[in-house]
Amino acid sequence: MTEEQKVVVMRDDASAKGRQAQSMNIRASRAIADTVRSTLGPAGMDKMMVDEQGNVIVTNDGATILRELDIAHPGAKMITEMAKMQESICYDGTTSTVVLGGQLLSNSEQLFSKGIHPNIICRGFNQAAKWAVEYARGTPNGSVDLTLVAKTAMTGKSVSHSLDTVSDLCVNALKRCGGERDGVRVISQPGGSLEDSYLFDGIIIHKEFTLDTMPKGGLHQVLLINQGLMPDKGDDNTQLHLNSADEVISYRQRMSKDDLISKAQTIIDALPGGGVVFVRDGVGDVICATLAKAGISVVRRLQDSQMEALSCLLGIDIAHDVDDIEGPALADEVKEELIGDMKFVVVSRSRDPDYSSVCTLVLRGATRQTLDETERGFEDALGVVSLAYKDGKVIPGGGSIYIGMAQHLRQRAADMGGREQMAVEAFAEALEIIPATIAENAGHDPLDTILALRNDHQSGNIDYGPDVEKGGTCSMGDLGVFEPLTVVTQAVQSAAEVAISILRIDDIISRRGDM
Ligand code: ADP
Ligand code: MG
Repeated sequence: MTEEQKVVVMRDDASAKGRQAQSMNIRASRAIADTVRSTLGPAGMDKMMVDEQGNVIVTNDGATILRELDIAHPGAKMITEMAKMQESICYDGTTSTVVLGGQLLSNSEQLFSKGIHPNIICRGFNQAAKWAVEYARGTPNGSVDLTLVAKTAMTGKSVSHSLDTVSDLCVNALKRCGGERDGVRVISQPGGSLEDSYLFDGIIIHKEFTLDTMPKGGLHQVLLINQGLMPDKGDDNTQLHLNSADEVISYRQRMSKDDLISKAQTIIDALPGGGVVFVRDGVGDVICATLAKAGISVVRRLQDSQMEALSCLLGIDIAHDVDDIEGPALADEVKEELIGDMKFVVVSRSRDPDYSSVCTLVLRGATRQTLDETERGFEDALGVVSLAYKDGKVIPGGGSIYIGMAQHLRQRAADMGGREQMAVEAFAEALEIIPATIAENAGHDPLDTILALRNDHQSGNIDYGPDVEKGGTCSMGDLGVFEPLTVVTQAVQSAAEVAISILRIDDIISRRGDM
């Protein structure tokens, strides 16, 4: 590990060596951290992002901001990659990770100026991250009301004014799906208010029936088919090599309408009382009309994820082709419904009404932009609650754990001696940036808050964090601010990892572009 890594970039002007390369990377990473810093915590501000076409996104979500930023610097890109990782593992905590990563790098600059070698800093950071995570895992963590976890994840997002409604929706949705994040589908449709949002035990798809002739009432018979039923138009410029009479016959059959009609007949035979067929591919109008005569409605050109959700909901496999059909599934209801001003196909399941592995959250809101932000808030909250649901370890939030970790590191550092001790202390100081920023964004003095928090923690109040309403500090447990342990441990690990990899770079070299 003594050999320092080299980053190879594709632009000539990005070349740099030694200390210059390090400080360029550090500066770029800090710029990214500064961009998202003001969004951290319940009182964080939003960012308005505009692209060349004038499309606007208004968001408070760190991951979204970073995704939309146009970043060219290789060091900064490493930070955004880390944020993506954090989001894919924990769904939340991206802003914290980036802010912490930026602070670690900024603190290491001070260590450089004292003449400490990057390798020593890296070793110290590595050790500090291990101790910090160990400490966090060792703190008492119990199971708490999941709605509190959902609320914490959504405070500060645009949904804050109806926090109770949305956190209940979120927890109920996950409970119905046994805690599986992927079981909850979210659709959003402008119109109404957030309070009109609801949970539906089934699937809602933004599609319509080609012809609505299905019998009403009673259970509905449903088929799922992958391959389409489109007449093959053929192509004037195609050359075919058909080597035998059989091949000619089978080719003609494939090209003929008769074949399609016979496929339609297979479907009709499979759904004697009428019903509905969901097809991933296209279905020709003639076939739709033929099926309609037999009381069968068609929903065509579905996405893979929609087909899979239907298969999961109804408990049947998706037939590859008409010939693979294995009999229909039964759904309680399949119907067209207007939500807002758009038509949707709604499918609810019949068996086991108490338990379904798939459900849909229908979000309503005034405009598309606010809805998109609501949806992002929900996505975070669903992920975080599913983490808490599955591994059950939840800790007080508000950055209180970061104060605890920092204190633990200072104690360990005191016994260390040597230059690595300074790196561990720098790590401890960097951890305090999270509660400090939460307080600062709420308009309170970060330094006073940190000093007060150190005091609280020393006196044994280890769940104290910044009071964003009144200023000063208060118990996060009493306030009901909780988050999954994994979000914090992963944030600390990723931030340390990315800071270390950036510190180990001593050369930025232009690279030949791929041919
Ligand atoms: P991230 O992208 O890191 O999740 P957020 O903007 O969502 O950033 O802020 C998350 C931080 O805000 C967490 O540390 C969380 O514990 C804290 N937080 C949430 N609600 C409160 C609150 N009411 N008081 C203090 N801190 C809070
Ligand atoms: Mg968050």
